[in-house]
Order: sequence, then C-alpha cells, then structure tokens
Amino acid sequence: MSDDKAILPPIDPISAGLHGRCPRCGEGRLFSGFLTVGRRCANCGLDYSYADAGDGPAVFVILIIGFIVVGLALWMEVTLNPPLWLHFLLWIPLTLVLCLGALRLIKGVLLTLQYRNKAAEGRLDLGE
Ligand SMILES: [Zn+2]
Repeated sequence: MSDDKAILPPIDPISAGLHGRCPRCGEGRLFSGFLTVGRRCANCGLDYSYADAGDGPAVFVILIIGFIVVGLALWMEVTLNPPLWLHFLLWIPLTLVLCLGALRLIKGVLLTLQYRNKAAEGRLDLGE
C-alpha cells in the first residue's frame, strides 16, 4: 500500500465505504460477497490484500446497535409494559437486521479509511 503510485483524484472515503466501493478509484466493488472483501478492484486494479479491519466493525456495531435496541426495549418496557414474548418477537429480528446491515456499512468505511490513512500494523524501525 505504501508504494501506491496511482494518480487518481481523491475520493470521499466515507461515501465510498458506505457504498462498498474501491477506496482508490471509488468505482470498483470492495466486497465480493456480503462481508467478504474482494481480491482486487476490477476498475483500477488496487490489491485489497492490505484490507484488515479486524474487530473494528463488530465493536462499532455492538456499541451503536446495542445502544439503540436496548434503549428502545427499556422505553417500551417502562411505558407500555408488554408481555415478554412480544419483546423477543420484536427485538431479536430487529437486532439481527440492524446488525447485519450496519456491519457491511461500517466495514466498508473502516477499510476505505484504512487505505486513506495508510493504517497498518506497527513495525519496528531498527535504524539500519
Ligand atoms: Zn479501484
């Protein structure tokens, strides 16, 4: 990634990530499956082997969706006091849908930001 000599106009990493597009050209697809990152960009040839979001997307999804769903469930319990089966029927499918949708969006954004900021694992500079 550090020897990337491609001359392309800079793109908005947030927009490209949300749309699942290549972080360099903004045109090619970033994902080959729902959450699987492709091998390279079909448009500009950028090698996606650098892409490693690690646990980052899952952490953001847990914090954001957990806050929303738990907040709504608590509000519903306090104001409406519904039976327990209604909580399960409502919140479990909603949580699954929101988590899967948000996971792809956040993973795309984190991978495009990783490319933009040249983020990588730390290396020792031994001063040779
Ligand atoms: Zn590309």
